[in-house]
Amino acid sequence: MDNFEYNANPSRVIFGSGTITKLPEVLSKLKLSRPLLLSTPRKTRNAEDVKRLLQDHVAGVFSEATMHTPIDVTERAVEFTKSTGADSIVSIGGGSTIGLGKAISVRTGLYHIAVPTTYAGSEVTPILGETANGLKQTRSDPAILPGTIIYDVNLTLTLPASLSAASGVNAIAHAVEALYATNSNPVTNMLAQRGIEALASALPQLIEGPTLLSARSSALYGAWLSGLCLGSVGMSLHHKLCHTLGGSFNLPHAETHTVILPHALAYNAPKVPEAMRLLVEVLPESNGDAVVGLNVLLTKLKVERSLKALGMKEADIEKAADIAVSKPYSNPRHVERTAMRELIRRAWAGEEAR
Ligand code: NAD
Repeated sequence: MDNFEYNANPSRVIFGSGTITKLPEVLSKLKLSRPLLLSTPRKTRNAEDVKRLLQDHVAGVFSEATMHTPIDVTERAVEFTKSTGADSIVSIGGGSTIGLGKAISVRTGLYHIAVPTTYAGSEVTPILGETANGLKQTRSDPAILPGTIIYDVNLTLTLPASLSAASGVNAIAHAVEALYATNSNPVTNMLAQRGIEALASALPQLIEGPTLLSARSSALYGAWLSGLCLGSVGMSLHHKLCHTLGGSFNLPHAETHTVILPHALAYNAPKVPEAMRLLVEVLPESNGDAVVGLNVLLTKLKVERSLKALGMKEADIEKAADIAVSKPYSNPRHVERTAMRELIRRAWAGEEAR
């Protein structure tokens, strides 16, 4: 075996069905008694349920979590947090809500408990992406990592089939890029393969039956493992493109990942034969080609395949290509503007990846 380095991110993880009921005990062990609860405007019910579970012993509820963590929302949230005298943050929701929890926690030093309800994986990463003036900037700092994560499969039962599929592919994307990261290692390769395997088996079942508990459990487990990959090794072209498209054109996060992944993988494929081999092992019906396996899965998941359908304007393809090559980053295959423009154009039009 070659020498390697593995960076573990030390959070406490509680996984299962009905595990949110452990929250009072988690808080009490940490000697915390005034958590601020976070949610999106659409999912205030989750925060209200948690408030009831804590018998109203909360500092307050802030329900304005927004995709791509806009700085102005964070500033309002920090002011509100300070005004309530909160001693901790509990974020209940997808990556947007957990992102806001991270943004408040890193600014105030308050302990952060994340309760994920999608498959985005933000809860296990020390990464925070924030948006101001149409640009998304990402930073990584161990202080950003939530201290405790409560995965409660029951909270994912309400995730609609289409969002389950897109969010699950978002998780798969973390694992795919981990397999060809410059700092990939046997541990993250194992996490990535097991994560993809669990998601590729569970997601098609969720399209047929979104409340199937065993499939929900596998999907959330796969999302956790894939999130661990994102938090541990460097991401490449796929994540940079999605970051550009999401932050600059306000495209929906998970759906953008779903459209871009086959294009990014096909672009990198000639330079990453070992990653392609590992992917073929865990993507059913690959027939020896991981891009084929991914396409089979995406077809089963009935996901949207074009950026156009997600609301991106054709005129923005040029700007997206400019931003995509404006800052150099590590990628197995050289990234140059003409190829990027063509990749983005194909993804915009919903054409086949190649
Ligand atoms: P999201 O958090 O915006 O959620 C999408 C929508 O689904 C929201 O309206 C939300 O209220 C709703 N929702 C969430 N859980 C639900 C449930 N169980 N049932 C029904 N509806 C539910 O979307 P996301 O894809 O989870 O997260 C995207 C954001 O997270 C982006 O801003 C992205 O940049 C960030 N992110 C960050 C990291 C990181 O490591 N920093 C990783 C992944 C994603």
